[in-house]
Amino acid sequence: MTDPTATSALKTHNRQRIAAFIYGHDSATKQDLATELGLSLPTVTQNLRALEESGLIVKHELLGSTGGRRAQSYAFDSGSHMAIGASLGRDEVTLCAVDLRGHVTSRSSFRLPYVGGGHEGAGDQRGAGNRDAAYYAEVGHLINAFATSLGTAPDRILGVAFTIQGLVSGDDQRITFGTIMGNTGATLEDFSRSIDYPALLIHDSDASAMAELWFDDGIVDAACLYLERRIGGAVIIDGALHRGGGSGTGPNEGSNSGTIEHMTLVPDGRLCYCGQHGCVDPYCSPEALLREGESLAQCFARIHGEDADHTEDFREWLTYIAQTVNNVRMVFGSDVIIGGEASTFLDDEDLAEIRRLVIARSAFHDDFILRRSLCVADQSIVGAALRFVSPFIDHVCGNQNIRTI
Ligand SMILES: [Zn+2]
Repeated sequence: MTDPTATSALKTHNRQRIAAFIYGHDSATKQDLATELGLSLPTVTQNLRALEESGLIVKHELLGSTGGRRAQSYAFDSGSHMAIGASLGRDEVTLCAVDLRGHVTSRSSFRLPYVGGGHEGAGDQRGAGNRDAAYYAEVGHLINAFATSLGTAPDRILGVAFTIQGLVSGDDQRITFGTIMGNTGATLEDFSRSIDYPALLIHDSDASAMAELWFDDGIVDAACLYLERRIGGAVIIDGALHRGGGSGTGPNEGSNSGTIEHMTLVPDGRLCYCGQHGCVDPYCSPEALLREGESLAQCFARIHGEDADHTEDFREWLTYIAQTVNNVRMVFGSDVIIGGEASTFLDDEDLAEIRRLVIARSAFHDDFILRRSLCVADQSIVGAALRFVSPFIDHVCGNQNIRTI
């Protein structure tokens, strides 16, 4: 007698292989699928019908005449489902709709000053205060309206992912360290109460690393250093984001993996916003280079316009970055990805210099690859949305390595 569980697993497997094949190619005919996947035409037909009903597959243009008959081809409809990435900045809310290939199909930015503080240390279990609640209600209204504007059926909006300039608890439910935005203690419930879709929180550096992983499936192990005004870091192990987690059971457990920015670089050195002295952040932040009133673009144009050795400040800054990368590599001997706004102004010579300085400082003088981050627009917002897209595609395509962007 046939095992019904095994039959069902085989059906799922066949459907996933068909979906994966079409996802990885521009289009495919029934005959292509039958030949390439070794399936019978009735099996292909039956699965295509189910995939069409779910909206994932659409009929493509008819191919040229073959012996008087035209072969119908099928394509993956990347816009059939959407995820929304959201960033709540100091002055504005930015929303991106991301399709099943990780492409932004719609973007909106709204002016809305941030007041979504947490309830740190107040012993307040009631949730956010009235002012915060009004802010989050407004954010929810903006997101719901944005989602409606996409014209995607509500049950095909996979979810809303908030990229957070702060650390998020291992269970994604709460901001455990939000000193930059003053929102420590804010919960997913605060963010999502007025939203009609599933929601999650993700640390912005982790979100950026998600995007690196999605768009470059050649990445296996890497440490990411994001040179934003507030430095960020993330760790990728075995092609997946490493969230950390020790043997402790506290509420903050597992939330601070890859926080390179708070490694001590200079004992008792410059004050960091975290309250400690000598962290990586105050030394490697591009703010260390800025002169009064300068934008980052103006600052780097000035630096690159000066003599070949650049300014002393810049040399010092590159050296601190190199020291940080060397320290990270002593724990985790992987390739290193450098990203963030400041990295977009570094030329190839600057990156080669950082690499040279790292190797010179290494006990082993070992070679390694220093990659430039993808630096796609709105990277952390896109990466946040991918937290919904990636598992969905894995579900549809069976976690097969088929990403072609
Ligand atoms: Zn610090």
